[in-house]
Amino acid sequence: MWNPVIGLEIHVQLKTNSKIFSSASTDFGAKQNTQACAIDLGMPGVLPVLNEEAVVMAIKFGLAIGADISNNSIFARKNYFYPDLPKGYQISQYEIPIVSGGSIDIVIDDKIKTINITRAHLEEDAGKSIHDLYPNESAIDLNRAGTPLIEIVSEPEMQSAKEAVQYLKNIHSLVRYLNISDGNMQEGSFRCDANISLMKNGDKKLGTRAEIKNINSFKFVENAINYEIERQSILLDEGDKVIQETRLYDPVKNETRSMRSKEEANDYRYFPDPDLLPVEIDNNLITSIKKEMPELPNAKKERFIKQYKLNEYDIGILTADRELSEYFENTLSQTKLNPKSTANWIITEVLALAKKSNLSVQNYPVSHEDLKTLLLNVHDETISSKQAKEIFDRMWNNSEKPTDIINNEGLKQISDVDELNKIVDNIIKNNYKSVEEYQSGKEKLFGFFVGQVMKETKGMGNPKIINEILKGKLKK
Ligand code: ADP
Ligand code: MG
Repeated sequence: MWNPVIGLEIHVQLKTNSKIFSSASTDFGAKQNTQACAIDLGMPGVLPVLNEEAVVMAIKFGLAIGADISNNSIFARKNYFYPDLPKGYQISQYEIPIVSGGSIDIVIDDKIKTINITRAHLEEDAGKSIHDLYPNESAIDLNRAGTPLIEIVSEPEMQSAKEAVQYLKNIHSLVRYLNISDGNMQEGSFRCDANISLMKNGDKKLGTRAEIKNINSFKFVENAINYEIERQSILLDEGDKVIQETRLYDPVKNETRSMRSKEEANDYRYFPDPDLLPVEIDNNLITSIKKEMPELPNAKKERFIKQYKLNEYDIGILTADRELSEYFENTLSQTKLNPKSTANWIITEVLALAKKSNLSVQNYPVSHEDLKTLLLNVHDETISSKQAKEIFDRMWNNSEKPTDIINNEGLKQISDVDELNKIVDNIIKNNYKSVEEYQSGKEKLFGFFVGQVMKETKGMGNPKIINEILKGKLKK
């Protein structure tokens, strides 16, 4: 039996306004090749200047994982040729990264496992090669060149695809909590390289790894790792060797394919970038960033347990995404709403529609104020929860306001006790046989009476009040 060993390198694009060494914009989706300036392209005679915002964001990340922040770190040139790298080198950090050490806890089968982080360094992104635009040619878009990244390198400590995906999800959630990245995986703001090897029980030395480059979805990471574990097991079982190489994951065929043999660090001829000064970070800066750190996922989870008494499952869902946790808290704030039923509403109704329409919280068509209004109408029994679901559907799909729908369509629940009493009296009068049967023990008939009242009120009767009235009047 072979035990998988997995280490991840995660590339996170930082949410700065401008590039890491120039003032060109980092906006996604601009016209091709309009957002890379002479510095990003490494034209002769230009000088890069470090963007302080990127440094602050890297420090935030380091503090959040309990890492050491280096007071002096340096930038190095990593030399290689590729069409999307016109400079011929990428500015990165090699010997002294800005962030070293730290860790992230993941929960796997109800157990906490700590994954250690080796380092996180600042670097610039390269441009993008586009292979599907023209039939027989590749295109290059350099807009991405110089976009700031942190690369987060884990220790080889994960043992399954499931652990690796959970670790990736936790880091993804964390960078969004810290507001240092939009985490948009489709746009490439958050992508990872997965390193996988196998070892036998009792082995001391790690096996030879394959590195799968640039995977940009949680599902693909899971599939790629599982595929690779299977592929390497078969090789090793047959007495063959795993070759150290860089591979590519093809989501269409769900397989990995060899790209090139793996380069070693010394192939890159790293050397300190002579155009950039060492980055000096004052402890005062670190202290002031510490003071401004937002509430992080673990702290929020604990607060939700204490403050709202929700279960682990609900809390896990609500706090995985910072914006969703805020949507929940904003809906609830300063109301008589019950936290558990509000959480249920968001987890079942809101997330179901969000999933269907593939929208993230920032783009929900229903604001937390409107959801609050709707739920308060349920709370004070103006509408039933069944009606609320239908109304919510319309709010979501047609951007209608809850109060408009309720007023315009006369959806108000009938909660008037006198009115309901009269209706019940009539029904009892007209169904005396059923009343007798009920009173002689056929309790199932209760539902029949409720149904009659509902029919009479065209479904608008308040079920709770109807139940109470019926129970009273049907008693012998
Ligand atoms: P690079 O891939 O740039 O050469 P490293 O050698 O530092 O860089 O390794 C990168 C990643 O590969 C790290 O996340 C590390 O944990 C992981 N790794 C290293 N050796 C192995 C191995 N034998 N099996 C699985 N993962 C490994
Ligand atoms: Mg690597």
